[in-house]
Amino acid sequence: MRRPMVAGNWKMHGSRSANEALLSDLEQGLKPEWPIDVVVFPPNVYLADAARRLDGGQIRVGAQDVCAEAGGAFTGQVSASMLKDVGCQYVIVGHSERRRLYHDDDALVARKFAAVLRVGLTPVLCIGETLEEHEAHLTESVVARQLEAVTTMSGVASFAQAIVAYEPVWAIGTGRTASPQQAQAVHAHLRSRIAAQDANIARHLRILYGGSVKGGNAAELFSMPDVDGGLVGGASLSADEFQQICAAAAVCH
Ligand code: PEP
Repeated sequence: MRRPMVAGNWKMHGSRSANEALLSDLEQGLKPEWPIDVVVFPPNVYLADAARRLDGGQIRVGAQDVCAEAGGAFTGQVSASMLKDVGCQYVIVGHSERRRLYHDDDALVARKFAAVLRVGLTPVLCIGETLEEHEAHLTESVVARQLEAVTTMSGVASFAQAIVAYEPVWAIGTGRTASPQQAQAVHAHLRSRIAAQDANIARHLRILYGGSVKGGNAAELFSMPDVDGGLVGGASLSADEFQQICAAAAVCH
């Protein structure tokens, strides 16, 4: 049985006061008996505050990106050990905005994934095809290539300590969601690729869906057998929406 997860990627949104209001509304909305993991990913400057604020509670904290290097002359960058030091437990690597806007290619994403694992944090590996790739029926080969870059560098066993998020790029921030059946097909494909190398790791691997998940569509998506929760962007900025998504995950499978 895989424990569902709901992860809220705040992207470049928030302020001290807005974060405080959002987190306190969220804490009030979540039920302690819900058998799910809930993680928020604030911008780096707010990570330490959020981790302190949430310490000992139900919500965990993660970072949206990381430097692949361990430390040194890399102006503007933040290492995995620094993220751990301020209380992060999870780190997103390979988000499509990083891949598209900041040229994080498969090789760099694989190095970031390895850097996160090295310090004992949990990477959340984002993969997904663009609209052009989707329309050209290349989804399976694109996600396989993105996954393989990581398994080649870190080994399939590394997925015992990792989470995968399938995020079709055409569904992120567009209001256009993959259908539950589309998401299920890709998730099942990813799980079978991992299972070909290690069936036990595949069985336990949590694969989240991301791309315009909202309170109104979460239950249908999460009812799919290989969808283990969601990586949520826009809707994670509303305590109400995010709480509805968490409620859907709590009863999903
Ligand atoms: C995301 O940022 O990873 C994402 C899925 O965004 P949204 O939910 O807004 O589509």
